[in-house]
Amino acid sequence: MQKFGGTSLANSESREQAIEKVLEAKKSYDSIVVVVSAMGRLGEPYATDTLLSLIDIQNTKLSDRELDLLMSCGEIISCVNIANLLNEKGLKAYALTGGDAGITTDNKHRNAEILNVDTEHLQNILKEGFIAVVAGFQGKGTNNEITTIGRGGSDTTAALLGAALNAEAVEIYTDVDGIMTADPRVCPTASIIDEISYTEVFQMADSGAKVIHPRAVELARRAGIPLIIKNTFSTAKGTYITQYNKLERRTIAEKLITSIAHRRSRVQFSVDGDIDDEKFFGQLADMGVSIDMINIFPQKSVFTIEDEKKSVVLELLKVFNAKYTFVESCCKVTVIGERMTGVPGVMAKIIKSLSSSGIKILQTSDSLTTIACLIKESDLEKAVKALHKDFEL
Ligand code: ASP
Ligand code: MG
Repeated sequence: MQKFGGTSLANSESREQAIEKVLEAKKSYDSIVVVVSAMGRLGEPYATDTLLSLIDIQNTKLSDRELDLLMSCGEIISCVNIANLLNEKGLKAYALTGGDAGITTDNKHRNAEILNVDTEHLQNILKEGFIAVVAGFQGKGTNNEITTIGRGGSDTTAALLGAALNAEAVEIYTDVDGIMTADPRVCPTASIIDEISYTEVFQMADSGAKVIHPRAVELARRAGIPLIIKNTFSTAKGTYITQYNKLERRTIAEKLITSIAHRRSRVQFSVDGDIDDEKFFGQLADMGVSIDMINIFPQKSVFTIEDEKKSVVLELLKVFNAKYTFVESCCKVTVIGERMTGVPGVMAKIIKSLSSSGIKILQTSDSLTTIACLIKESDLEKAVKALHKDFEL
């Protein structure tokens, strides 16, 4: 199973490189399924955002169903194009929509949930010796109409079909050599991770690292199918993702921390005195505000949200007549490592690392495999560099 993202398909040279990767895989595997994203990014002719830019989304009378019809075109064009290129290389290729490939979803257009995958048709195509080229990011609803499964959904298509077909591995092709220990724009010493666990990658994606869609990681984890993040434009080995206890490179598995992720543009609110927490946070949820970090005390609550939702929160605070303060331009830095579970002293080490760099921690939260600190965005580079160094990434 191979999946090619938008940047791997942006122009004819990159598509040629992608085809080379398929040809290479053909040497080792009898059956190959290729899942494709739409070609390129906004501005490029058939990219999802380019298609969307044909419509004035705020004012359109089109339904989500019709927008799905538009958005799904990008992947459909892409799969026909790739099938054609494979044909030109003398290979038998068969282009399919997500629905053709057996993916059924509910009818919640633009963000449909997968209900079922029936691979019978796909398997017959593979048995006949075709390379199946499937349009990612889409399925068909229970009424047979085309749906899309949420932005970035082609990764999910690949993991889903990989799981349903019990693929040997799912290779996700992109334009970098693999997953990095931190964002190299923030931390120049960041390096490629050879091996990492599903949980860690899931946490990275969830904590703001743009690696692979978390839903795809979860699907692969449940099916126990390895994911490999690879570069269409290089021969680098890439990052191998599997279960923690199957990691072979002990040098990596033995590290307490495998990576650092961050999310910018956070706002931290502190509410003083008694408000009806249940009602307040219930209403925030109803208004679509997701709480990033939260600590509740008898006479105080502190919570962090994304900047975009600030005005909604401010309005609700007024309705509740609450006394509050807020800090803008915050950033959440998360250290991730499956091995930290139950190991004492990780938080202490983080506090030491940040405070000896003169960075103030505004709030923390943790899970079994992550510790997150809220800091000022202006401290971001310093913080990531310090943590990267002190945890010997
Ligand atoms: N083309 C879709 C998007 O831009 C799906 C994907 O690329 O994964 O969201
Ligand atoms: Mg993508």
